[in-house]
Amino acid sequence: MRTLEELDAREKRVLVRVDYNVPLEGGEVADDTRIRASLPTIEHLLHQNATVVLMSHLGRPKGEDPAYRLRPVAFRLEELLRQPVTYVPFPPGSDRTYQVVQGLGPGVVALLENVRFEPGETKNDPELARRYARLGEAFVLDAFGSAHREHASVVGVARLLPSYAGRLMEREVRALARLLSGYRRPYRVVLGGAKVSDKIGVIQSLLEHADGILVGGAMAFTFLKAEGGEVGDSLVEDDKLGLAREVLARARELGKPLLLPTDVMAAEAIREGAVPRVVPADAVPAGLKGLDIGPETQRRFAEALAGSKTVFWNGPMGVFEVPPFDQGTLAVARAVAGLADAYTVVGGGDSVAAVKRLGLEEAFSHVSTGGGASLEFLEKGTLPGIEALGGWP
Ligand code: ADP
Ligand code: MG
Repeated sequence: MRTLEELDAREKRVLVRVDYNVPLEGGEVADDTRIRASLPTIEHLLHQNATVVLMSHLGRPKGEDPAYRLRPVAFRLEELLRQPVTYVPFPPGSDRTYQVVQGLGPGVVALLENVRFEPGETKNDPELARRYARLGEAFVLDAFGSAHREHASVVGVARLLPSYAGRLMEREVRALARLLSGYRRPYRVVLGGAKVSDKIGVIQSLLEHADGILVGGAMAFTFLKAEGGEVGDSLVEDDKLGLAREVLARARELGKPLLLPTDVMAAEAIREGAVPRVVPADAVPAGLKGLDIGPETQRRFAEALAGSKTVFWNGPMGVFEVPPFDQGTLAVARAVAGLADAYTVVGGGDSVAAVKRLGLEEAFSHVSTGGGASLEFLEKGTLPGIEALGGWP
């Protein structure tokens, strides 16, 4: 993977794919984490007096929906950079965009309109990729969160221009690669969240590396049911029971512990302030849903994590958005954050949100900005966007 160190950007027009897929509220950016994450790359290019042409997607608009315009992002970026940002309100592949970009001088930052306004973007249309390629003399991919997408603004254009990984992209790939080789042991993985189906690939991959896996969240119930447990009305993926059995068998074959909850907090419905019952994880009464790991499981998980030198965590242990079902996630977050001299990584949109809400971000070695992209990298050891930049390592 070529990096910015190899790019002489002086006086060049550089097209940069960033990930500005930020939440908007009342027409304003509600969380600017992703915009801030792009600043090191932009500032590096400005130091070289390049013309910086930024492009991103925002949401999943159907056509040119004004609610998905990037104008609010341009405003926020101006504040963060303390310099004007030229917002180009036309479809990014259009001739009008091309004409505006042709007129930009060195040291200027421009933000193009939402790439998903282009119907060819998600189809990786080669003609659209050629239209993007007219906009720069070099291409920088810094949208780590989109690097698993075979889209025109990610891989299509990268194949047509001299292309480089931006600072964020490089940082993420280096941080996650440490979970696939050269890691210190014991190495433990904590997985949770909604669905086994989203994570089966990463479980299979990390089971080969880690010394133990702890499974919580809704996905634990598919494993518990696969082992013959009664899970009541908890979330289960019945079509994944076979896959869950395969993973359990593989863990036994490797002699690696795969810990499941022994008790869960159960309630009739997800309701704030509900008074849950602590029930055995494999005997959840009919009519109740398991919504968080129980106190005994919290303790067992914390004990199992003690002494770890490497930890990867993805997926909350329960419905952390609705107290009191946040207690299991809190317990795991504290257990991981409290490890001394360990390399700790948290990835996944909701897990990262949980860690931030608890104010524990600083206690982790790395907080990954890319949910789906981090998981796919840990599963496959590479991503389409990385391959388009020459591959890894
Ligand atoms: P991440 O974004 O960190 O990868 P996921 O998207 O896989 O995590 O899962 C997060 C979601 O899983 C949250 O919305 C949370 O409420 C839900 N969840 C966790 N445990 C349970 C459970 N026991 N029952 C229902 N939903 C759950
Ligand atoms: Mg999620």
